[in-house]
Amino acid sequence: MHFNYLALAVPLFVGLIVLEFFVAKRRGKKIFNFTNSIANINVGIAERLLDTLVTGLFFFVYDYLNRHYGIFNIRPSIVLWVALFICTDFTWYWYHRLAHEINVFWAAHIVHHQSEDFNYTVSARITVFQAFIRTGFWCILPIIGFPAEMITGVLLVHGLYPFFIHTRLVGNLGILEYIFVTPSHHRVHHASNPEYLDKNYGDVLIIWDKLFGTFKKEESEIVYGLTKPLKSNSFLWQHFHFLLELVVAVKQEKGWKNKLKKLFGRPDSVSEDIRPELERKFRIVSNGEPAASELNRYVVFQVITSLILLFLFIAFENHLSWQVQALFTTIILVTLVNCGAILEQRRWIFYLEYSRMFLCVVALLAYYPSAILATLIAVVVPFSIYFFNFLQRRYLYFVYYFRRRRQLLIQ
Ligand SMILES: [Zn+2]
Ligand SMILES: [Zn+2]
Repeated sequence: MHFNYLALAVPLFVGLIVLEFFVAKRRGKKIFNFTNSIANINVGIAERLLDTLVTGLFFFVYDYLNRHYGIFNIRPSIVLWVALFICTDFTWYWYHRLAHEINVFWAAHIVHHQSEDFNYTVSARITVFQAFIRTGFWCILPIIGFPAEMITGVLLVHGLYPFFIHTRLVGNLGILEYIFVTPSHHRVHHASNPEYLDKNYGDVLIIWDKLFGTFKKEESEIVYGLTKPLKSNSFLWQHFHFLLELVVAVKQEKGWKNKLKKLFGRPDSVSEDIRPELERKFRIVSNGEPAASELNRYVVFQVITSLILLFLFIAFENHLSWQVQALFTTIILVTLVNCGAILEQRRWIFYLEYSRMFLCVVALLAYYPSAILATLIAVVVPFSIYFFNFLQRRYLYFVYYFRRRRQLLIQ
């Protein structure tokens, strides 16, 4: 059975996150907030999962462009590998800078900047929409003449590097600060302090920021996150809030010219009054109460399960039919939405639990089609539909009220 070694990145990254957690604890630093870290990891799980499905498409696009429109016929050599690396890093700088300066790109990149923590979990906080936009920029590489195999190889290394710059535990790195993007540089990039906004876009080399006037040294205490923080743990809201804000902002404009100007304008041109309106409309504002520790454990259990499923999915993707892949993907995505809903203590999570159970049963039947299992399901499903309201009441009582009351009694 073919094992995809890229899957090992999942336990490796989790191991490094755990290591960072313990090192920070030893140093007496509190750099991990529970809900922030869960949100970061969940966004990352969704991205890795969906990215696995579309990587083949990206390769096809690079290969097609190279074979049909490649200007030079480039063959691998040390000099050209280095040239490709520099071209990739340069393209990244402009992709990243424009992702901060143009609304329609910022709608995807904003998710990376929502975390008010700064640790290794933030590196996971990227979305598949970003991968599509980035690929659009990187299409210049096969057109120059770099073959798809070379591009994929470099992107792998280029994709690994940013993980290590998302930490508060590494200080000044001396001479390396002049050439490479270091944790110190990237902390500035994630800051919401006015003097640090729109600075340090580089991925591996810091020279581009110095060249194009966007470099800033870390000099004072940093406040991480958006200038207007999100008040929500909702997985879906974190992904789509700015897109919805942008839709409203574009709608408010008169005439196509103004609408396009807004779409491709700067993020600060979207009025700050739009978000509170949307939050009211979608009932987004968190009730502010921290979830009971049992709920947190339930969320952790779901995140660990999702990570294991993700690992298996990447490792054996080639052996899974498209139906099983779709089922796997849906179950994991529902679980991620579920985690956010539990932290927000939403009542509609029962519908999610219900649909997830249904999907798990379908998955079980698809893998082990047996008469006993089918009979059991034929009995349980009508029963669960008939007692839907009763089950919903018991579930919500058990998940939210019972546990919270018990906690109060203990206190
Ligand atoms: Zn950024
Ligand atoms: Zn970052």
